[in-house]
Amino acid sequence: MTRPIAYITNPLVRHSAERDPEALANAARDPRTAMVVLAGDLPVLQAGEPGTSLLPSSILGRLPGHQEQVFLGTLGDRPVVATLAAPEAAESFLDDPAFAVVDLRSIAVRGLVPAEELGLLAMAKSLLDWHRRHRFCANCGAPTQLAQAGFRRDCGACGAQHFPRTDPVVIMLITRGDKCLMGRQPRFAEKMYSCLAGFLEPGETIEDAVRRETFEEAGIRVGAVRYMTSQPWPFPSNIMIGCIGEALTEEITFDGEELEDARWFTKDDVRRMLEGTHEQFDAPSPIAIANHLVREWVKN
Ligand SMILES: [Zn+2]
Repeated sequence: MTRPIAYITNPLVRHSAERDPEALANAARDPRTAMVVLAGDLPVLQAGEPGTSLLPSSILGRLPGHQEQVFLGTLGDRPVVATLAAPEAAESFLDDPAFAVVDLRSIAVRGLVPAEELGLLAMAKSLLDWHRRHRFCANCGAPTQLAQAGFRRDCGACGAQHFPRTDPVVIMLITRGDKCLMGRQPRFAEKMYSCLAGFLEPGETIEDAVRRETFEEAGIRVGAVRYMTSQPWPFPSNIMIGCIGEALTEEITFDGEELEDARWFTKDDVRRMLEGTHEQFDAPSPIAIANHLVREWVKN
């Protein structure tokens, strides 16, 4: 079964031009509002087959208190608000079988909510994580306050405005005729190989980041680079930029620090890896954009 890449489907209308203080206050007191709650970085789900992360606003009464709230947007006529609670708030749900508190990666892997909710959960997690870690002004050190319905923090002391960050990561399938390059990191599941990836640096194009990372990690020179697709990756706030790159050289070298192995795979290898019938190697995780990149490549 082919599942969609996780976190890419987000049906919310964001209303980004209407993020004034009233938008958040109105949404927070609207009885129709769907509440997305994170205890620290763990979403609270209503259990079910599948469950849901869209909780009635009365859920706030179950929490020992809460911190920042963000107006995420609307789903039809329902406002959606994300609420940050302390990590200890998870304990209020531990003995209640109607709820589950699960990390967002497992929610995607296990399909615990409909695929459409994964995108808005990624949005909620990245934004609330940013609020959690940016309570002080990077310019002058004074405490900052939430603004623009949760999409900005303002410093009352020096007037600086701070915006939520998204960190770009290039992830690339490097090809050479009928072969593609994949590597494995020590933390990967046994037998799994995946696309090479790395952070885009300031002042660097996406194409150059693909070329630099591939040369640094595997010693392969890359020529033409083509953008394929992207995936929000909320751990905590990356955007994975999926590319295909054409190798100009074939000899792989790696230092063993970042990668413990890198090798060329034939299309036949990759087909069997995707089917789970390869004796030696496994494909990248089905929730990840790397799986999509190799799946598209073997089609042609
Ligand atoms: Zn300041």
